[in-house]
Amino acid sequence: MTTLASKPLKCPVCSRQFESQLVLSYSVAEKDSDFCPRYLGANPLPSFLHVCPGCGFVGYEADYRAVYGPERIESIKRVLAGLTWSEGQKLGGPERYRRAALIGMYSGKKSAQIADLYLQATWCSRMDGEPEEEEKGARKKAVKYFELALAAEEFSEADIPVVHYLLGELYRRLGEGAKAREHFQRLDQFEQVDAWLLEWRNKQARLC
Ligand SMILES: [Zn+2]
Repeated sequence: MTTLASKPLKCPVCSRQFESQLVLSYSVAEKDSDFCPRYLGANPLPSFLHVCPGCGFVGYEADYRAVYGPERIESIKRVLAGLTWSEGQKLGGPERYRRAALIGMYSGKKSAQIADLYLQATWCSRMDGEPEEEEKGARKKAVKYFELALAAEEFSEADIPVVHYLLGELYRRLGEGAKAREHFQRLDQFEQVDAWLLEWRNKQARLC
């Protein structure tokens, strides 16, 4: 069951105060090969992101508590100005994640966080049955930012094998077999890899 509760928030960009919904609980039955959760109740992903009705800022609850300097605020305002917005506009899950990823580039989020937002955009896109091109576009961006995050050494040692598995699977889904195999093979370079991860890797590597 997915349960929500009302939460007052104040926009860090335009100072608008509004009521949003916080996710209190949810249950996951299993996960797809790209870690997309299959929820037992309603998809809670859209509710993890809050949309300011005044300016269209989208972020996690923690982003609403963040204190941005004046230059950061100006930079976020510039990206918002480039996106269309009308007072109180409703945004679906995939739109929320794509918009949050774009805003994240200007609000100082790390590449790993932006990659994660684009990955979740692909999940929401699939759950909402959007045209495949939308999902593919977000997946390409997720891959780009996961690669940047790896290059910038943003992940802890323990997380790197999972990131290589995920990159392998995302490239495989994009039809880029050579790159998929390259990342899947990288798992063999680590001494400690969880058994389930190797199992998933072996299964997905056979498909590309
Ligand atoms: Zn706002």
